[in-house]
Amino acid sequence: MSEDEKPILIIEDNPDNRVLITDMLHSMGYQVIEAPDGDSGVRLAHQHRPALILMDLSLPSKDGWQATREIKNSPELAHIPVVALTAHAMRGDRERALEAGCDEYLTKPVSLGELSRTFSAVLGGRAAC
Ligand code: MN
Repeated sequence: MSEDEKPILIIEDNPDNRVLITDMLHSMGYQVIEAPDGDSGVRLAHQHRPALILMDLSLPSKDGWQATREIKNSPELAHIPVVALTAHAMRGDRERALEAGCDEYLTKPVSLGELSRTFSAVLGGRAAC
């Protein structure tokens, strides 16, 4: 499987947001794997080795900061870019996300344009559209 064919993993507990962002990713030409909580997100990352992970920070079972630390501490997964997603632009959230190892940070609601620009930056121009 080439880099271009690898799926995007979205870890987000809000079903409406998950559907919205999954639709955007499909329109960008990506395959998508969805996880509703931190534990299953880390498990699916190991299973599928996605091209990129979109990580909600406020998540059940294991929050996005902890899930990101586990991914970045795993030799097999550390290279995968993690883009943090959060609804509340709480002071300090961005810093904590970057400290945990996130490569980029997006505030919800996310637009298709922002998603596309961030993917281009993080994946080195491989993103569609
Ligand atoms: Mn959430």
